[in-house]
Amino acid sequence: MNSYAESFLELIYPEKNTCFICETYDEKINDKYICSDCEKKIKKIIHPACSKCCKPIEFNSFDGLCKECRGAKRYFETSRSPYAYEGIIKKAIYSYKYYNKSYFFKFFGNCLVDYMKDTNYADFDFIASVPLHLSKMRKRGYNQSELLARHISYKLCIPYVDALKRTKKTFKQSGQKKEDRRKNLKNAFTVKKSAQKIINSTILLVDDIYTTGSTVDECSKALIKYGAEKVYIITIAR
Ligand SMILES: [Zn+2]
Ligand SMILES: [Zn+2]
Repeated sequence: MNSYAESFLELIYPEKNTCFICETYDEKINDKYICSDCEKKIKKIIHPACSKCCKPIEFNSFDGLCKECRGAKRYFETSRSPYAYEGIIKKAIYSYKYYNKSYFFKFFGNCLVDYMKDTNYADFDFIASVPLHLSKMRKRGYNQSELLARHISYKLCIPYVDALKRTKKTFKQSGQKKEDRRKNLKNAFTVKKSAQKIINSTILLVDDIYTTGSTVDECSKALIKYGAEKVYIITIAR
């Protein structure tokens, strides 16, 4: 049986046993999707990491939090990411989003599923994703976060809920100061009327990257105000 994403996307995969990242051929790749050389170059998040946002912190942090989380009110419970947003992962996420390589969701999705199993981060009622504005969705043709979320949902048998809508077109976020990002995103998300089942439930919200946390926190705010009990976050990298 095909997963949801495969059934609606006409995916053109690289040839079997070809590394998604460096495109070399190696028979050992199989369903790992990347070669062992690329795998070795991926940087994992180094622990200890902030218990709220997963940013690496000093060993002697007294409360287990990073500086930003210490003073901030956050709507989500915790955010987890397996990888550091640099090097080969940064490039791969860029290709995934901007070079039409939608099939990357399989590789990233499997990484997230393994990480969730290994760290016992899988006890949720629903899985949701950060939505794109309709105009961006039309241009790109797919929502990279939704593909990941649906893949995780399929693999872990946790129902996917199409809960959020981006009602405000936002400017490009990179290069903006944290306060400006937050202002830009204020009330940019609403919960769809069809998502009533999320009331009193715990939700895992999926996004590709965690930068300042403003996007996932604005989404969490909308979900909590609508009646969700708790919101947790997962991203590929941060
Ligand atoms: Zn490779
Ligand atoms: Zn933190």
